[in-house]
Amino acid sequence: MAKIVIFDTTLRDGEQAPGYSMNVDEKLQLAYQLAVLKVDVIEAGFPISSEGDFKAVNNIAKKVKGPVICGLARMLEPDIVSAGKALKPAGKRRIHVFVSSSDIHLKYQMKKSRRQVIEMTKKGVKLACSFAKDVEFSAMDATRSDPAFLHDLFSEAIEAGAGTINVPDTVGYTIPEEFAVLLDGIMANVHNVKRSVVSVHCHNDLGLAVSNAITAIQHGARQIECAINGIGERAGNTSLEEVVMAIKTRKDFLKSSTGVKTAEISKTSKLLTAITGIGVQPNKAIVGENAFAHESGIHQDGVLKKRETFEIMTARSIGLKKNRIVLGKHSGRHAFGVRLSGLGFKLNKDQLNKAFERFKQLADRKKEVFDEDLGALVGTEIPVRSDAYKLLSFTVVTGSDEEPSATVKVKDIGKGVETKRTGSGDGAIDALYNAIGRATKEKGMLLNYIAKATTPDKDAMSEVTVQVRFGGRQGPTVRGRAASTDTVEASAKAYINALNRYVEEK
Ligand SMILES: [Zn+2]
Repeated sequence: MAKIVIFDTTLRDGEQAPGYSMNVDEKLQLAYQLAVLKVDVIEAGFPISSEGDFKAVNNIAKKVKGPVICGLARMLEPDIVSAGKALKPAGKRRIHVFVSSSDIHLKYQMKKSRRQVIEMTKKGVKLACSFAKDVEFSAMDATRSDPAFLHDLFSEAIEAGAGTINVPDTVGYTIPEEFAVLLDGIMANVHNVKRSVVSVHCHNDLGLAVSNAITAIQHGARQIECAINGIGERAGNTSLEEVVMAIKTRKDFLKSSTGVKTAEISKTSKLLTAITGIGVQPNKAIVGENAFAHESGIHQDGVLKKRETFEIMTARSIGLKKNRIVLGKHSGRHAFGVRLSGLGFKLNKDQLNKAFERFKQLADRKKEVFDEDLGALVGTEIPVRSDAYKLLSFTVVTGSDEEPSATVKVKDIGKGVETKRTGSGDGAIDALYNAIGRATKEKGMLLNYIAKATTPDKDAMSEVTVQVRFGGRQGPTVRGRAASTDTVEASAKAYINALNRYVEEK
């Protein structure tokens, strides 16, 4: 059995995807759960890219125990120094340096010769080794590079101290058989390849990321870079849950294994959804809602007679549980806290108190509080450390023959001032958001609005996710989320949540 290193890049490549950006606290939540899932390496971010990313990597390096904590850096001194600083507190740390290797990138993006790229690599890898014993080298756009140059580049990187060499299919272009040839070439022609772990980083533009990753294992790769729910740039990365379950389910054929605790997969997938507000499609392999649902009569009959007739793995193996009643009005703080950690949340005292208060309000309105409700409630609660604005009350009037109007009372917490304003609009939500804009004097442009029910029951909570641009056309886009038994209230609070994030980031 070959041991496959699982390198999780949910917090770096995944987080770069539109709509998935997470703040420092949100990243920390997910990193704690990735440690429980027992991934081998957590790529926590790209420290030089922003102050927030530096802080996130640094915080994770300080607090998350178990996996190797990794930070990304271009082959440039300031990047490597920044990654080294951010990772310093980690028990086990890795610096991941990358440089482009394809002629098209060299010519148009980097404007460097092959010789210059080799020199940069030797220098960069050595510098990275002075900050971390564990250094990974990536040749960006490897699948579109000249193999002979790639072999030289990898040999030099290993010579300079890289313990892992990564072969990224950056643009999601390769086909399994072709990728196999590339890997065979690396194994045969990189003279010192035995001194390093060969890794692959596949993108899903053609829907082949997992296939390519699995093929790579059969051709000597021993590290897979992947992300929870397959999130990542464009069509995403290799999906962690798919590649891990393929290895586990087909160990007879692949003769390999991972250290991942698969019973934590479902929880981790749901935690990411709770934090970002973006779920997976129902037919998504492993973690989709229908992944273990047998609808056809023949299949159901077969599964009842003998499970293996139509089921290749069990729902239990990924820790899937039916939504069951968890808490109600009389549940105490302790039970609430225990249930939340069961869902993968690790909250500090302040966050827990705040969430408990929200839970009590919810339990007054909703008899049965399900895991999904708690996920929505708490996932929307982590984002902002200290709110700038609070919604005190709202009224919305709308109808087929009336111009929609809304009145809101909002408190500016810093100034201690309460403001009541009225607004009108094309619809009830538009009127509501215009009223909030007037009350807070912060004009936002609504870019996206999604409302969904957390559970299928009649008194379900509504979870609203919005994307709003504040501060004019050039302003940043922020995400806001809220959950409530009332969709209009959730809409108002989601907008205020976006505004609070905007103020916090500013
Ligand atoms: Zn990538």
